Amino acid sequence: MRFSILSKGDQKSDVIKGRMEQYLMDFSLEYDEKEPDLAISVGGDGTFLEAFHRYQHRLEDTAFIGVHTGHLGFYADWLPDEIEKLIIEIAKNPFEIVEYPLLDIIIHPASKGETKRFLALNEASVKSTDGTVVMDVLIKGAHFERFRGDGLCISTPSGSTAYNKALGGAIIHPALNAYQITEMASINNRVFRTIGSPLILPKHHVCELKPLHHHKSFLITIDHNTDSYSNIDTIECRVSEKKIRFARFRAFPFWKRVHDSFISDER
Ligand code: NAP
Ligand code: MN
Repeated sequence: MRFSILSKGDQKSDVIKGRMEQYLMDFSLEYDEKEPDLAISVGGDGTFLEAFHRYQHRLEDTAFIGVHTGHLGFYADWLPDEIEKLIIEIAKNPFEIVEYPLLDIIIHPASKGETKRFLALNEASVKSTDGTVVMDVLIKGAHFERFRGDGLCISTPSGSTAYNKALGGAIIHPALNAYQITEMASINNRVFRTIGSPLILPKHHVCELKPLHHHKSFLITIDHNTDSYSNIDTIECRVSEKKIRFARFRAFPFWKRVHDSFISDER
């Protein structure tokens, strides 16, 4: 079996990466940065997001696992103290797999230009650098609302505990093949109206965001990466056909991770 380890880059994470690398090679596993069967991230959820994007072109062949060197993470849910145990489990192979849904985002240009396509593990968010975001929101091809406000966040179930949660969205269990749309400070008065509540959509319901003005530029963030775009016709969002595969070596139920992260890590 081939593995790779991505460290956050701080001293603690680098030391743990070094130890894990050594142990795994002692078990005759092969270090392969290009085509790993297992990608291990050491750091936080941010480091895990990086590992995901590094191997997003080979999700059918690479499984993921995260060790946290700071606070407990949603993706990085193994403690450094547990790595000996973890390595014995990895060496035993084959491992059990748990799959979580992803978001498929397509940005269509208004005039000639490139269509861009992204996969998100947490979310895509759309904001503006100059003033209010004004976009028509279509669901399954039908006009739903004209949104005016700071922006919109489209999140996956596993991303629902991240930015989505800060925007008042619901926490969605990742066994649900769904995605969620939350508003950022929408303008609501007698003239302008948006739904106001977060929306949770099933797998085949496509949502399209259509900016009213094509010359406007928008800041689109996919997980931890932000870029500026203008000349956008449509941002198309749906649940992806692809899934992320986690290597599962022990039970750590989602609701327990939610409890331990947000309520208390005591019992
Ligand atoms: P960051 O600024 O370090 O991330 C903000 C926090 O979100 C960090 O504590 C991060 O954990 C945590 N986080 C990431 N994914 C999570 C998840 N699925 N569930 C719960 N918490 C999660 O930047 P980053 O580490 O590159 O992460 C990018 C993510 O930050 C974005 O995808 C977005 O969801 C989130 N974000 C949150 C807010 C907000 O809450 N107001 C605003 C912008 C972005 P670690 O410390 O372990 O990395
Ligand atoms: Mn981070």
